[in-house]
Amino acid sequence: MHSGSRPLRTRFAPSPTGDLHLGSAWTALASWALARASGGITILRVEDVDTPRVVPGSAARIATDLAWLGLEWDEGPDEGGTHAPYIQSARSEIYDDALRKLEAAGLTYLCDCSRAEIARVASAPHAGEEMVYPGTCRHSPPDRELKRAPAIRLRVPDHTRISFVDRLRGPNEQHVDVSVGDFVLRRGDGVYAYQLVVAVDDALMNVSDVVRGVDLLGSTARQILLMRMLGFGDRVPSYTHVPLVVAPGGERLAKRTQGATVRELRERGVQAEEVVGHLAHGLGLVKGRARDMTASDVAKALVPPEEWRKDAWPIPAHWQ
Ligand code: GLU
Repeated sequence: MHSGSRPLRTRFAPSPTGDLHLGSAWTALASWALARASGGITILRVEDVDTPRVVPGSAARIATDLAWLGLEWDEGPDEGGTHAPYIQSARSEIYDDALRKLEAAGLTYLCDCSRAEIARVASAPHAGEEMVYPGTCRHSPPDRELKRAPAIRLRVPDHTRISFVDRLRGPNEQHVDVSVGDFVLRRGDGVYAYQLVVAVDDALMNVSDVVRGVDLLGSTARQILLMRMLGFGDRVPSYTHVPLVVAPGGERLAKRTQGATVRELRERGVQAEEVVGHLAHGLGLVKGRARDMTASDVAKALVPPEEWRKDAWPIPAHWQ
């Protein structure tokens, strides 16, 4: 099914900030099945760099819920593997190295702007919560007295136009300098930015196919840009951005939405095969009428990502 010549490797990369949400369970199932369908490798990577948001114990709870769904991993925190460690908080030296490479190439600068300063000068807030950085610190003398612990930003070259083909959504193009601007690689508090760690890890772990939620579609160009700048241009994966899972009425699944987590359904007595079957059918991973399925049934009957569902999927009303 994979068109390239690389061995197929997919990853599921949860942030341990709470219990496994149905939306995440779906991306886990889809990326797992994509690898299993053609004898590829499945990777579990715990994305816990944003320590203030991490909920202690939730990585273990997520692992339990994934195992209950029948998803097991060839490489991961418990399984090990040639690209260990698979927990981002244990990979800071790897990110330090990547940042040093970019610094040495003159591609970074220190930024001591506050959020409020950026907001005042930024143009209209862009796509959702994102703000285009106006470049204030790009031209400031590097030896100036800093107002606060500085963030490190990427100097995005003018006319940076990144194109890629999403397997479900088709061709995409982003002018990164215009629509994002010089984005943060490391925050003032020392936390590495999601864009950097994901780009580095997907490249170093040799991930061939990224399957994740459509809310991250707008991050893909930044990650491809970083991979190219770091010399991993030949390792850019193919991307499939799957739709969001929503409440039966179409609203966003909030933490308090009943039936929004795998754990809650299990505790209510719903069987794993029912959860897997509904997710697989609802989201078009398999054809035919809804029926209970195991994860390996899904892998055997998987249709190509080009044919998966594109619109948001409301969870069944009886799970509420
Ligand atoms: N860790 C991210 C999240 O849970 C997902 C990262 C990705 O798939 O690129 O939102």
